[in-house]
Order: sequence, then C-alpha cells, then structure tokens
Amino acid sequence: MASVTFDKATRIYPGGTKPAVDQLEIEIADGEFLVLVGPSGCGKSTSLRMLAGLEDVNGGAIRIGDRDVTHLPPKDRDIAMVFQNYALYPHMTVADNMGFALKIAGVNKAEIRKKVEEAAKILDLTEYLDRKPKALSGGQRQRVAMGRAIVREPQVFLMDEPLSNLDAKLRVSTRTQIASLQRRLGITTVYVTHDQVEALTMGDRVAVLKDGLLQQVDTPRNMYDRPANLFVAGFIGSPAMNLVEVPITDGGVKFGNSVVPVSREALSAAAGKGDTTVTVGVRPEHFDVAGAESDQGLAVSVNVVEELGADGYVYGSTRVGGEDKDLVVRVGGRAIPDKGSVLHVVPRPDEIHVFSTSTGERLTG
Ligand code: ADP
Repeated sequence: MASVTFDKATRIYPGGTKPAVDQLEIEIADGEFLVLVGPSGCGKSTSLRMLAGLEDVNGGAIRIGDRDVTHLPPKDRDIAMVFQNYALYPHMTVADNMGFALKIAGVNKAEIRKKVEEAAKILDLTEYLDRKPKALSGGQRQRVAMGRAIVREPQVFLMDEPLSNLDAKLRVSTRTQIASLQRRLGITTVYVTHDQVEALTMGDRVAVLKDGLLQQVDTPRNMYDRPANLFVAGFIGSPAMNLVEVPITDGGVKFGNSVVPVSREALSAAAGKGDTTVTVGVRPEHFDVAGAESDQGLAVSVNVVEELGADGYVYGSTRVGGEDKDLVVRVGGRAIPDKGSVLHVVPRPDEIHVFSTSTGERLTG
C-alpha cells in the first residue's frame, strides 16, 4: 500500500491551447479513498490516466509512495484499474477473467486459483466462477471487474466511473459495497465520477475540478458546510444551494425586507474589492419559512412542490435586485404549502455562505 501524490501535474494535449489538467496538487494518504468529481470535460479522466501512465505528464510529477512514477510505463506502477466498460473477455469464465492478469504475469495455476477464490468470496461470486460473462447480471459483471483488480493486490486502485453502466437502484447498492470493500482492503483508491452524490457518499475526501483546475479538496462534510467558492457551492448538494446576489447594508445584507447579519470581516473583504453586493448561498434546508401573513425576507410564489414524505421541496420564484429568481426551499412534511400560494423566507444567519460577487471566492469563515 502507498500514498499517491500529484505534484503540480499538468497535461496539455497535442494541439491544445490550454492544459486539460493544470498544476494539479493533491496528496492522497495511504489507504485513503479519494474521489475526483466535476462536470464533463473538467479533467477527471485525464488526471486518473496520468496516474495510470496512460497519458503523458507535461509538467510536474506523480509519486506513488516514495517512487517517482511520472515517466514509468503502466505495468511498472503497481496499480489496477476498473473502467466504466468492464471489458470482460466474453469467451472466458468468470474465474479465467479474474485470473487473467496473473496468468500473463506467469503466476502458477494453484496460486491463481487461490487468489481468485479469495476474491470471489469477498465479492460474493463463488457460485458464478464457472459462468461466462453473458450469463451474469450487470451488477455481477461489475463485481468481476472489481475482482480482476483485487487479485492483483496492487498498491493503488484506479476507478473511472465504474458504476455508470448500472441502473439507478443497483448503482446505489453497489456504491456502498465498493466503499465498504475499499475500507476492508485498505488499498489507496482514486475514483472518478461526475455524480456529486456518489462522490460525497463514497469518498474519505473529495476533489472538485473545473476546467482542469482544482477548486477544493476536502472531506464530504467540509465540502458541504464550507464550499470554497461559488462553483463548489453550486455543484455540491442536491437540490443545489440557492445563490442570491444581494446588496450590502450596514452590518449585514439586505434579503428582501430583512437584514441578515454578516461578519464585519466578510463585508469589508467585499468592500475591499469595490463590490456593493455579495452573493449569498443558502441551502434549501436553511430558511425560516412563514406564510403570506409575514412581511419578512423574500416573498416566494410556490410553483412546484415535491413531497417526499418526511419533508418536501418547494420550487418557487421571487424578485430580488429587480430580477426574477428561482429558489428551492425545504419544508416539513406536515407543512406542505399549496401550489400558487406565497411563502416568506429568511435565511438563518448562522447557516449562510457569503461569496464575492466579483471573484466567486468565499468571504465567510
Ligand atoms: P472528464 O473526464 O472530466 O470528462 P477529460 O479528462 O476526459 O474530462 O477531458 C479534459 C479535457 O481534455 C476536455 O476538454 C477534453 O475535450 C480534452 N481531451 C480529453 N482527451 C483528449 C485527447 N485525447 N486529445 C485532445 N483533447 C482531449
């Protein structure tokens, strides 16, 4: 087992005008599960492929443990990769698929059988070892692909959207299985997904990328509680955080009819940039909600209500700064408003996030 270091690792594709991955810096601890997440094209796969040795590194370095692997061929890196298409050999049995890499490496038959049987036990595949892939379900095939990686006992697992071929329900159960398996095996893992829910539920830490640039690397809890900038704020969380541009007033921000207190440091940081507004982030669960009789905060007309039993989400619209703005507000399951009604919402001061309107950076601590 080993740590993994991206040390200002940069990839510029031939003919590219800007780096696909720009000076990526992440230190991944021995045994850690790190998830790379971001929208399509942000550089997740390129980062993983640089670590795998499948993509040249044009600047910086990559280390596995103490070894500088920046220019080593993939086979010398001691990694195993699980891809989104499992690429199982259709004519081979599950056992032969799982043991294939060991066979190529010249490991003897008895040893291969032992390792395959151990992996099959962990993955609940023992009774399928003699089947061909076509006689397996999608979830079982996915586990065979995992098994193929496990039998190699690598220092690092690399996984590129390994759940994307599974249906929604199976994806949820398989992500729990992979996360608990990783913890049991204790093998350092780098996992790529575009799905922020997958990232938050699986990773010890999550790294958010945008346009080839690392935005934040943090635990799921910190990522949710303290997003470093407007991009992360809008990307992490479902339904997404509400982001509302509001005027700065004495001691706080003006949120409709209410003034919400904001720290002096945050306000002076905004003023220092010459801004007269800040962008306030409020998660749907962080509003105090009153009915039409209230005159506080912003008046929200209810457009759609999503009832989830224990609670519900109100999708509404309001007017702020002379413009229409959509808002999402969580309400209790026994307090679901009617479509077409009006709510008054005020964010809870301790729960708001304040960002610079001009630079997007976080201003509150
Ligand atoms: P992600 O995995 O986050 O969707 P990628 O790492 O695949 O993103 O791609 C990052 C950027 O690099 C994108 O702009 C993509 O178009 C570009 N890119 C990816 N592969 C190549 C390639 N082989 N040649 C040129 N550009 C590429």
